[in-house]
Amino acid sequence: MSTTLINPVLTQQTKEIKRIFKLQLENQYNLGNSSASERIAKLKKLHKAVLKYRPEIKEALFKDYRKHPSEVDLSEIYPVTSEIKHTKKMLRSWMSNRSVSTPLALMGSSSEIRYEPKGVVLIISPWNFPINLTLGPLVSAIAAGNAVMIKPSEMTPNASAFMKKMLEEIFEENEVAVVEGGVETSTELLKLPFNHIFFTGAPSIGKIVMRAAAEHLTSVTLELGGKSPTIVDETANIDTAAKRIAWGKYLNNGQVCIAPDYLFVHESKKEAFIKAFKKYMHKFYTEDASKESSYARIVNNRHYKRVKSYVDDAVAKGAKIEAGGNFDSQQDYIAPTLMTNVSKDSSLMTEEIFGPILPVYSFTNIDTVIQEINSREKPLALYIYSNRNKNINHIINNTRAGGTCINQNAVHFFNTNLPFGGSNNSGIGKAHGFEGFKAFSNNRGVLKQHIPNALELLMPPYNNFKQKLIDLTIKWF
Ligand code: NAD
Repeated sequence: MSTTLINPVLTQQTKEIKRIFKLQLENQYNLGNSSASERIAKLKKLHKAVLKYRPEIKEALFKDYRKHPSEVDLSEIYPVTSEIKHTKKMLRSWMSNRSVSTPLALMGSSSEIRYEPKGVVLIISPWNFPINLTLGPLVSAIAAGNAVMIKPSEMTPNASAFMKKMLEEIFEENEVAVVEGGVETSTELLKLPFNHIFFTGAPSIGKIVMRAAAEHLTSVTLELGGKSPTIVDETANIDTAAKRIAWGKYLNNGQVCIAPDYLFVHESKKEAFIKAFKKYMHKFYTEDASKESSYARIVNNRHYKRVKSYVDDAVAKGAKIEAGGNFDSQQDYIAPTLMTNVSKDSSLMTEEIFGPILPVYSFTNIDTVIQEINSREKPLALYIYSNRNKNINHIINNTRAGGTCINQNAVHFFNTNLPFGGSNNSGIGKAHGFEGFKAFSNNRGVLKQHIPNALELLMPPYNNFKQKLIDLTIKWF
């Protein structure tokens, strides 16, 4: 006998989602016709609220995974406030209609691009930077004049509940609304004909989102993840490289979409790199990171077990733990860990690590490294530590990645003038600054006819004379 289970909470939430969606649909032209000043006023309200609630944000993230308050400032608050500042400064120019030139064949007309809002949009965000990766896209969506529904992650419940409370305080639900919940809630939302979906999360879930979007031909921005490689060549400053990589790898406990996932160092520098890397691991987090408050935790026990199983699998296949390798299930604690001799078929190398483990390989010929990188999915980021331009350009020209830092990692995220996002498996579409504004806009091409043009001479019925004119048009215009 089959029974259909009806979840009354979800049924109630589905009704609520549909009610808000309808309100937002009704309000979309009102929002879409708002001036730059009106949108800037909304961004100012958001900016003020983020600063006012800075202590609450820190408290929420400490409860969620013991994230240090200074790291919250750097990686959650600052990216949002800098996105708001940049958008406020540039919005008038982004919103203005852009004239484009007119080909001779269309003489008598003028053309321009108008950025109009997509309409009612959905933002689905992950847990690893819950504030940054929810409010960042929200800034772009508001700037572009949309009504916005947000589904933050269920994995960081304190951060999600906080955002709901704060956004309800400053926005009407027909302009910005937060719907809390997990996969079921997301699935319900994805049934609706949104005009755009901005999703940040895993590539496997990105495919589910894109499939659902296809049903309504909804456009998508997919900010996904993957394995971001790092290369340290024979000309690199090893001490600087080790310091920056140790910072980029263990920030947020390695739960960063653009963290260096695995590393290739030139054979001649391997020993020096490992020594310098250990020095910075200990400088940043002491010899026992479990006692250092700067070091966050894995978000929950499920993810703790996932990362631990990757390490166990690699060790069983012959990997060597060079540093770290301590675990505490009670605290979801995994020490900053450096590993060598990791088999390429271990899950540490077949999956995105998303935790504080760095596998290190050595190389003598850079082309074998390029081959290895190109045999995998296109990464979200690729990092190069080198002081030789020839090497840098050779690597960039022969690989593909969403973004790249040279002699640095992860900080390209903070430059609002750079497009941020992946390529294919690591993402579709870009975010931040003007790219974020465009992601939530339709660039409408508008042509205005002022005086009759030559095209009118070419209208039916066709004859030999008109054919000659058409031939001339193809030849000369
Ligand atoms: P996730 O894909 O598991 O979850 C993201 C969101 O999707 C959550 O809100 C979740 O509730 C929802 N979701 C989960 N399963 C779903 C389903 N079956 N149907 C509909 N919605 C569903 O990702 P996560 O674990 O929160 O974050 C980690 C992943 O995100 C990593 O792969 C990381 O690289 C990636 N990421 C990418 C970026 C970027 O900017 N490109 C930033 C942060 C994280």
